[in-house]
Amino acid sequence: EKIKEIMDANQMRRALVRISHEILEKNKGVENLCLVGIQRRGVTLAKRLQENIEKIEGVKLPLGILDITFYRDDLSLLSEHPTVNSTRIDFDINNKKIVLVDDVLFTGRTVRAAIEALMDMGRPKMIQLAVLIDRGHRELPIRADYVGKNVPTSRKEIVHVLVDEFDNDNRVIIEQL
Ligand code: 5GP
Ligand code: MG
Repeated sequence: EKIKEIMDANQMRRALVRISHEILEKNKGVENLCLVGIQRRGVTLAKRLQENIEKIEGVKLPLGILDITFYRDDLSLLSEHPTVNSTRIDFDINNKKIVLVDDVLFTGRTVRAAIEALMDMGRPKMIQLAVLIDRGHRELPIRADYVGKNVPTSRKEIVHVLVDEFDNDNRVIIEQL
């Protein structure tokens, strides 16, 4: 079978509610806490965490955006390097506990680029990572603090995270290429 569903809308919603509680529990509340979503779908997921946390704790966390894209190195067409295009973080990150949010964690290279961009902007107290799907195949010593679902994948598979905002649907499917 070429396409398999790994999360439906309810499973996605519950995973994000659970992660919201985990963030609050690990950080003992919302003090100095802020969210930074990585481009498109990471931002959507960060907004859902922000809404959940506001419902639970009554506080709307600051939410920033990092836009990271891949470009191919001229010399080695094989390797793709994530680079930070633009940032929209209109709050001071000094001494903040930042929860980075992305849809899928794969090699870890995007997160590395994101951490580097944040460190260039100031001196956060701590950076944590939340992802909806960890599909394995890490190439750097990076791990997520909060994971919606661990999904062992082959390199020939691709995970599609569908969200209302872009896809008029909420579910996660895995496609065999
Ligand atoms: P990494 O940099 O860890 O190799 O890949 C993570 C970034 O690439 C994330 O921003 C994520 O959106 C994207 N990515 C990597 N693998 C997949 C995948 O299988 N599906 C989707 N939707 N995005 C992926
Ligand atoms: Mg991405």
